[in-house]
Amino acid sequence: MDCIFCEIIKKEIPASILYEDEKILIFNDLNPEAPIHFLVIPKEHIASTNEINTCSSDVISHIFVKIAELSKNIKELKDGYRIVTNCGKNAGQTVKHLHFHVLGGRKLSWPPG
Ligand code: 5GP
Ligand code: ZN
Repeated sequence: MDCIFCEIIKKEIPASILYEDEKILIFNDLNPEAPIHFLVIPKEHIASTNEINTCSSDVISHIFVKIAELSKNIKELKDGYRIVTNCGKNAGQTVKHLHFHVLGGRKLSWPPG
């Protein structure tokens, strides 16, 4: 299977890694949309939020615990940040491996486009 995020997990292509454990990887986005923009992914290949089920509930909750732990220690995020996940083509999902964007370090507009 051709998946760029699985290749990052396997260290076949480089990434700026902020955190890693046996279940998840957190790394900076290659094309940041804000001063802080990192991605949080499960190591298991899950294609999108549509593939989340009760078997993935552990890793999904783990992802949010780690986002909280990491984000509250990043000074640029002290005034807030946004967690985004795009699912499918209308949302603009380009990488078919579940990922949560964490964006901050500037005022973010709402609603999104
Ligand atoms: P999506 O558009 O699927 O919601 O988000 C995919 C994100 O992955 C984009 O923000 C894009 O910049 C990022 N991305 C794509 N390829 C790579 C890569 O090879 N390395 C890193 N670090 N980020 C990537
Ligand atoms: Zn993958």
